[in-house]
Amino acid sequence: MKGASSLATELDSTLKFYIKNSRHMEGLENKQQAAEMEKEEKKEADISLKELSRRLQDFADERDWEQYHSPRNLLLAMVGEVGELSEIFMWRGEVPKGLPNWEEADKEHLGEELSDVLLYLIRLSDMCGIDLGDAATKKIVKNAVKYPAKNN
Ligand SMILES: [Mg+2]
Repeated sequence: MKGASSLATELDSTLKFYIKNSRHMEGLENKQQAAEMEKEEKKEADISLKELSRRLQDFADERDWEQYHSPRNLLLAMVGEVGELSEIFMWRGEVPKGLPNWEEADKEHLGEELSDVLLYLIRLSDMCGIDLGDAATKKIVKNAVKYPAKNN
């Protein structure tokens, strides 16, 4: 039969083993989570207009908001967001490319307002039956014909 101190030592080393292993597992889980989040972020960066459009439709369906999404309402909402976007640049004078002297919070705010404009534009296009990706692609081609590059 084992003595009390021998049992305590065994228990102590068993506990240490579990603590060490659980930390190791935690580290692995964190690394795995970080890798998954990174993958997810990459996916989000490459998100398509169609996917955004689908998510906007789901968002509206879940809240029964499509009834408010008439083309006119969406246009006015988008113009309101353009106003919010303009407000960020108001009174700043000329702003250099890349916004080098801006606070992170201001850049984050800018990203949000740009997104508001984009999301309303996509929703407006959808409610008008316009395939925005297709229309924008055709417009770029049309612009290239209208304004040929000098070396062509
Ligand atoms: Mg906004």
